Amino acid sequence: MVKDFSFDVVGDPAEEKPRVLIVDDEEVVCSLLKDVLGEKYQCIATNSASDALKLLEESEFDLLICDIGLEGVSGIEIAKEAKSKFPELVIVIISGKGDIESAIEAIRVGAFDYIKKPFDLESVESVAERAMKHRRLLVGKRLYEERLKKLLEDRMRQLDYLSYYDPITNLPNKFLFEDRLTQLIAQAEYSESNKMIAVILISFDQMKRIYSTWGARFADIVLREAALRIRACVGAESTVARMESDELAIFLPRIEGEQDAVEVIQRIKDALKLPITVENEAILVTVSAGISVFPKDCKNAQEAIKNASAALNRAKESKQETWFFFTEELNEKLLRRLEMEMGLRRAIETGELELYFQPKVDIPTAKIIGAEALLRWNHHESGMIMPSDFIPLAEETGLIIPIGDWVLKNAFHQCKIWADKGYNLTVSVNLSPQQLREKGFVEKVEKMIRETGVNPMFLELEITETILIKEPEKSAEVLNKLRKLGIKILIDDFGTGYSSLAYLKKLPIDGLKIDKSFIQDISSAAFTSSAELVMAIVNLAHNLRLKVVAEGVETENQLKFLRFIRCDEAQGYLFGKPVLPGMFANFSI
Ligand code: C2E
Ligand code: CA
Ligand code: CA
Repeated sequence: MVKDFSFDVVGDPAEEKPRVLIVDDEEVVCSLLKDVLGEKYQCIATNSASDALKLLEESEFDLLICDIGLEGVSGIEIAKEAKSKFPELVIVIISGKGDIESAIEAIRVGAFDYIKKPFDLESVESVAERAMKHRRLLVGKRLYEERLKKLLEDRMRQLDYLSYYDPITNLPNKFLFEDRLTQLIAQAEYSESNKMIAVILISFDQMKRIYSTWGARFADIVLREAALRIRACVGAESTVARMESDELAIFLPRIEGEQDAVEVIQRIKDALKLPITVENEAILVTVSAGISVFPKDCKNAQEAIKNASAALNRAKESKQETWFFFTEELNEKLLRRLEMEMGLRRAIETGELELYFQPKVDIPTAKIIGAEALLRWNHHESGMIMPSDFIPLAEETGLIIPIGDWVLKNAFHQCKIWADKGYNLTVSVNLSPQQLREKGFVEKVEKMIRETGVNPMFLELEITETILIKEPEKSAEVLNKLRKLGIKILIDDFGTGYSSLAYLKKLPIDGLKIDKSFIQDISSAAFTSSAELVMAIVNLAHNLRLKVVAEGVETENQLKFLRFIRCDEAQGYLFGKPVLPGMFANFSI
């Protein structure tokens, strides 16, 4: 039952004054409160508890001033209910003299304060003010919490994005790609259609060079543009994703035949025919691609990607073809390679690695003065494996580091054994570029010298010229340090690489090994161009105070020629094949 005084609003609602709901069954109380608060607040009064709750539901109030003893309902009940429904509503209880205890009870259930009857007008004002302050605090706290929550949600969304998308190209990343492909394959398995799914892996041939020449920011722009063009070559139902740094993957759902995949690759190649312009540079990128097809080549997403990757590697190796389909034969090659890698990993512990030594002869005196250490892998099933069949794999997999360490240690050890027996034999060890690049390599060699007790004067390291050309400063620094230890440095396979004689001057080296292909070209029948070249190399090297070793010497005639042009040392089957150290004594030292 609402009396007529109930709904008169005091003050202009347009001013957006805080809204106060007054609930009291005494009309005088209501109008008194409205008089006192009307200037600062928009006041609405009612005498009924149920109307009060309805009003609260209908519109938002800042403050509820409520009599503690309404007809039939206690203010405590109202305070409790209002607080639970509107946690930001501030409640002030009006209490008579006798009900201070109930007022305290009301505060316990959520009221903010109470005003005593009869009213002291000033205290009514100040209670209302404090209540409003509290209200602002409550609202502020909620806004703050909401902002925090939103911020947190934004961050989570961002993180979510990053874990499924590549930020550079905005393409899905490999996780999302694998996920979608897995779903697609699962669907295909249940559907009756005999359509196929093609997975294409694409690699940009020039990306590494672009990174190293122009830097990451530039390369990212090229990649983004290339990705955009590739994305446009396939339909919406296909996914294009970024896999590794310079690799994209595509799946084509529901293809009719392998030809569809080839057409997509052709479209991609066409799309990349126009150069990509970045900062006034016109960059041309080309791609290699590997394709695998479900269900012909693979059972699941991982296998599809792995097989496409094997086909891609084949395409990268090939000079003529830009793309390859996965084949069973490729799979076998992959398996064999994997098996070999695992075997090689174990080879050190199982004692399957062996170090052979091939004599090196001093040409003027015809005496054996040293040996080259040459690695063999004596496989328990396959038998003897030559270095050309496993060193490349060791280099690709990084196994060359532990294997190289094993070779160095054993070669040093053997050198020391010979020295202890009174043979002053120089031992040369082949070094892979990766070993030279390894951090702490010089210190490692130093430690091995200390531990084996070898005299570094009897040690030589053979390196190929490629690393000296590619990283001249860095390799010179390492070589200088090695030479300071007393080790000599020889350039191996000289003549097969760049062979610019001019650059020899600047290198911190002690000698050259002329590649066996030149020596084997030397015949008694004619003065070949190789003979001429070998002579020129020996002369020039001597001018630079470098010693020259000829490798692959097989005939007396070759030796005669080398002696004639004053080549310093020779190595080859003429003097002896590589043998285990125990057999070395058979050579006449
Ligand atoms: P390389 O350093 O040029 O070694 C010389 C190769 O020529 C050896 O082959 C040797 O057996 C062979 N050879 C020696 N004399 C003659 C000859 O008169 N006629 C012919 N036709 N060949 C001769 P090998 O032992 O198969 O080694 C092949 C290559 O493997 C080596 O070439 C070297 O680059 C690499 N290698 C061998 N051992 C190691 C090693 O411990 N570490 C590294 N990083 N590479 C190694
Ligand atoms: Ca060598
Ligand atoms: Ca060589």
